[in-house]
Amino acid sequence: MSVLSVVVPAYNEEQMLLKAAAAIAGVLKENAIEYEIVFVDDGSADGTWAQIQKAAEADTLIHGVRFSRNFGKEAAIFAGLGAATGDCVAVMDCDLQHPPQTLIEMYRLWEQGFEVIEAVKKSRGKESLFHRLCAKAFYLLMSDASSVDMTRASDFKLLDRRAVSVLLEMPEQGAFFRALSFWIGFRQVSVEFDVQEREAGVSKWSTRSLIRYALVNIASYSSKPLLVSTWTGVICLLAGLALGIQTLVRYLTGNAVAGFTTVILLILIMGSLVMINLGIIGYYIARIYEEVKGRPRYIISQKF
Ligand code: UDP
Ligand code: MG
Repeated sequence: MSVLSVVVPAYNEEQMLLKAAAAIAGVLKENAIEYEIVFVDDGSADGTWAQIQKAAEADTLIHGVRFSRNFGKEAAIFAGLGAATGDCVAVMDCDLQHPPQTLIEMYRLWEQGFEVIEAVKKSRGKESLFHRLCAKAFYLLMSDASSVDMTRASDFKLLDRRAVSVLLEMPEQGAFFRALSFWIGFRQVSVEFDVQEREAGVSKWSTRSLIRYALVNIASYSSKPLLVSTWTGVICLLAGLALGIQTLVRYLTGNAVAGFTTVILLILIMGSLVMINLGIIGYYIARIYEEVKGRPRYIISQKF
């Protein structure tokens, strides 16, 4: 009999934890699937760890990993994958926005031999217009970089042991689970689910943290933004040639362009373009610096 591990990253989820544990365990028991649940406490400031311990007292199939501080959802997912012992491993949110019922559908597909089962969002649930637009822009860039349609992607996935081992062997610091699980290949399939409303607690993402998350992931997955320098250079060269010829012709025919205005405008435009491009390059250098330091992705303080 094969075992399904369910990895649940949890950050300040004390209100949702027991509900999530009960809902997931309930559905799996109902369908006679052997399971274990691994909660990863991502350095919560509230009573999440205590709740995990409480859940584990009631159900010995529940395990916990506690980070020494908040390392972010990606780190929590990878720590969970590392701690899971099952033949297949599912990852889902602690707020039950990923319906546990879908797990069953995914597990059945795994039994049929699929190795990477992805749950895609049929509807995105309640989100502000700004959030929706940002998410759209982000996924368009990511989809372009990874050549897979990621506009409906989520972190709700079920992976075969083989896929998990491959992911765990990757030395990347800035690993982006959602994109890497596509990238590794294997037999992939997707199922649809409706994003549920969060029952209790609040979303852990502020607009700032989402933008940072998006930038880090784009930089860790795609080098296309670096080509922006080349292209702005080429465009400036063409514009410069045209403008240069015109300026020379006017000079030779005796009515040269007015001096200062032109010079000031050119310096301002060129200066900003150069700075912006240096910024993009600088961002990639920062990412390289992060990678070569080779620090661990997370630090575990407790585990059972
Ligand atoms: N999460 C985490 N670390 C973080 C932020 C979030 O482990 O730094 C977890 C959180 O506990 C939840 C999941 O990631 O289980 C999704 O977070 P949330 O529901 O806040 O995001 P949203 O659904 O709003 O995208
Ligand atoms: Mg959520």
